[in-house]
Amino acid sequence: MKKIIVAVDGYSSCGKSTMAKELARETGYIYVDTGAMYRAVSLFCIRKNLLTSDAIDEAGVEEQLNKMHLEFKLNTDGKADMYLNGENVESLIRTLEVANGASRISTLGFVRRELVRQQQLMGIQKGIVMDGRDIGTVVFPQAELKIFLTASPEIRAQRRMDEMIAKGETVNYEDVLANVKERDYRDVNRAESPLRKADDAIEIDNSHLTPTEQQAILRTLFAEKTLLY
Ligand code: C5P
Repeated sequence: MKKIIVAVDGYSSCGKSTMAKELARETGYIYVDTGAMYRAVSLFCIRKNLLTSDAIDEAGVEEQLNKMHLEFKLNTDGKADMYLNGENVESLIRTLEVANGASRISTLGFVRRELVRQQQLMGIQKGIVMDGRDIGTVVFPQAELKIFLTASPEIRAQRRMDEMIAKGETVNYEDVLANVKERDYRDVNRAESPLRKADDAIEIDNSHLTPTEQQAILRTLFAEKTLLY
């Protein structure tokens, strides 16, 4: 059976990575979380003071971009962790601060072009499930299966909050909801590759779907596509 490219796009915190990861596991495909790459760039820039709560030193980020070596490495339980210049930053990039920085840094055209270039290289052999905001529109416009995932902001904020609480973090629902809405706004309104559904993407609203129901839909779509190719 020929391998295909699966692109999963959608708003923040609507379960794209859970969906994409599970499909990759079932099919033996490679899974790539492109959000982790933007988050790692954000963490690097925060640490270097190039990204503060009120400004981005664009010239500084551009100058340092080739000093950020991003890599996914499988950890002992088979999960791909994000490494930044050899350091495992997987848990450090999951904070609200880094997420917010990623949402701001991802508006810069030169950052996007570099990360898109790296992502396209990862998909050369196909057999990949990649999630993000611009996978079906910019990274792999030729992807055989494109999913556009949505859910209401309130439901996404609640899910995000439950995840953070499970990790032992103290969070406030209104802060998480504001963060979700702010990131949606930036993703949809940025000049460079704004978030939009590709014309040939299949939209799934998972507000009222269980993970099992959602996975069953995806499995059927994947089976249909792989029969075609
Ligand atoms: O998906 P995740 O929430 O981890 O992504 C972090 C941020 O990176 C998002 O808020 C989004 O602005 C940005 N991003 C992007 N394009 C991608 C993946 C993520 O602009 N392909």
